[in-house]
Amino acid sequence: MQFEDVRSDWSTDPGGFWERQAARLTWARTPDKALEADGSAFYRWFPGGMINAAENCLDVHLAAGRGEDVALIFDSPQTGAKDTYSYRRLHDEVVAFAGALDDLGLAADETVLIFMPAVPQTVVAMLACARLGLTHSVVVTSVPVAVLRDRVDDARPAVILTASGGFDGPNATVYQPLFEAALAQAHHRPRHLVVLQRPQAGRWTPVPGRDLDWHDLTAHSTKAGPAPVPVPSTHPLYMLYTSGSTSRPKAVTRDTGGYLTALRWAAEKVFGVRAGDVFWTDSHPGWVMGHSFTVYGALVTGATTVVYEGSPVDTPDPSAFPRIIAEYGVSVLFTTPMTLRRIRAASPEDRPFGSGGSPLRAVFLASERVEPELMDWTGPFFGCPVVDNWWQTETGWPIASNCLGLGLLPVKPGSVARPLPGYRVEILDEDGRPLPPGEQGHVTIRLPLPPGCLTTLWNDDERFAETYLKNFPGHYDTSDAGHLDEDGYLWIAGRTDDIINVGGDSLSGLDVEHVIGAHPSVERCAVVAAPDDFYTQVPVAFVVQRDDTDLAPHHLARELRALVDERIGAWARLTRLLFVRALTYTPSRKIKRSDLRAWLSTGTGLDVLADIRLTSDVIAKVVGCSAVEGR
Ligand code: AMP
Repeated sequence: MQFEDVRSDWSTDPGGFWERQAARLTWARTPDKALEADGSAFYRWFPGGMINAAENCLDVHLAAGRGEDVALIFDSPQTGAKDTYSYRRLHDEVVAFAGALDDLGLAADETVLIFMPAVPQTVVAMLACARLGLTHSVVVTSVPVAVLRDRVDDARPAVILTASGGFDGPNATVYQPLFEAALAQAHHRPRHLVVLQRPQAGRWTPVPGRDLDWHDLTAHSTKAGPAPVPVPSTHPLYMLYTSGSTSRPKAVTRDTGGYLTALRWAAEKVFGVRAGDVFWTDSHPGWVMGHSFTVYGALVTGATTVVYEGSPVDTPDPSAFPRIIAEYGVSVLFTTPMTLRRIRAASPEDRPFGSGGSPLRAVFLASERVEPELMDWTGPFFGCPVVDNWWQTETGWPIASNCLGLGLLPVKPGSVARPLPGYRVEILDEDGRPLPPGEQGHVTIRLPLPPGCLTTLWNDDERFAETYLKNFPGHYDTSDAGHLDEDGYLWIAGRTDDIINVGGDSLSGLDVEHVIGAHPSVERCAVVAAPDDFYTQVPVAFVVQRDDTDLAPHHLARELRALVDERIGAWARLTRLLFVRALTYTPSRKIKRSDLRAWLSTGTGLDVLADIRLTSDVIAKVVGCSAVEGR
């Protein structure tokens, strides 16, 4: 079936549609029905069903005679490790580790925090928790001490699983100092830390009574290997913190049955992945992309997942991605625009696969809006179609995308294509009234959300309702702004915060960024709103100039203004540009526009823009007049 047929199949009978998808999983007890609603905004998918996620990712493939198929490929250039796990080997390691964890006497409602590098043991740890019916909380290793401390206090893990260190780039990061600092500040005390020693990435000095060695624990496990524990479909498989901020932690809670159902459907239909395909989601398992497609989505589908411990450009050079794709025959790559920008900036070659061609069927991109020029570069570079796909940590799988498994629709550059079956996307104005095609407003999803999306926030139903459901009753508020066009294609303009109200007209700061970013002398830029007495708000552009250009800032500024006038229109009123040496990023490598906004309003918090003087003088110039500051 093609996209249109599948969407109408779903929209005529959503419950029946998802029941048919759920029936493809192995249930210990069949669900009573697809969806339960009690009149509140809280919905439960597949009530009455009992299921185990690890069983559906591993045991079912063994039972189907696919035990020798490759489940996981590991590649770690800095340690020289390359390894291949069949489904049988991965299963056996998960069972052994689950036995070891079980020996620690964890109760069913206790949680396990996983702070690990991108290594196979991270996948083993997640699946071992799932096998025992324990809720895990994977934390990405790029977080600072205060964030780790807050997450330990919020998740209150009985046990923490970690390693002595890992590689995000050419140099190792050693984890123990971060942990000791975080645990010294945290109120919660985990009973144990289980540590995977990786001598190439640093040593961990065990604290007696607290720390246990990963291998010793597994080797001395008394359990022959626990059977998968069936849990209710609604049981939290994991909690996952939304990215970045140091404010009060906010963890998405994901159920088990609905999530697996949605992932199996999305892996096959959106990403076009079948059992036996090599599906590389280049994401640390701790991000939502990693949870959903490096781990659960790839494995529930019976595909081969790739765990890569390295960087796109300097482990050892920008040939890393093409090498992995060619060496392992990757069929589908899922990555981020930031990764591609880094490869493009560093890459000497245009066509790395030469005459042999690329094994890829498609490259998928998510996490931020992708500029059309990057799409134009990516297709020829990787030798395959490029698909932009829009989702959030909260939804767990794409909300809108072109679907490789349902025949690609015509591409409209800049649009994330059509909302997927499961999602009723509605564009609303400030007062919650539906807007016609072509008009930009708040992008919302009419309730119920499909299976796989967050069911609440960890331990905080009230905050869930307040954050996502209060603004537009009956709808989930994505906090993104955008519009649907006459063909039903969705266009995401950015976070509602990123929309600039220029004299009553809505200007997308991201649109301006894309125009400026396409100039060959610009390395990166960010555009945010500054208050303006006359126009309400005007855009201010923070521009990082490329090192290899010697265009004087005031010349470049003139060219950039002309470009914006030409491509967007003079109504955008881009008069204020500030040339800076660097921008600040969140741990997920998104520009921290909130820092820029805060600086514009308070003049503090931007110390990293090292070589501009953060004096009230500079701010007055940026905010109050048409000044251009040189570097
Ligand atoms: P996160 O939950 O950190 O992954 O961030 C989700 C947000 O990233 C979305 O609400 C969007 O603002 C943005 N985003 C993710 N994917 C895309 C995309 N393909 N196009 C535009 N924005 C995106």
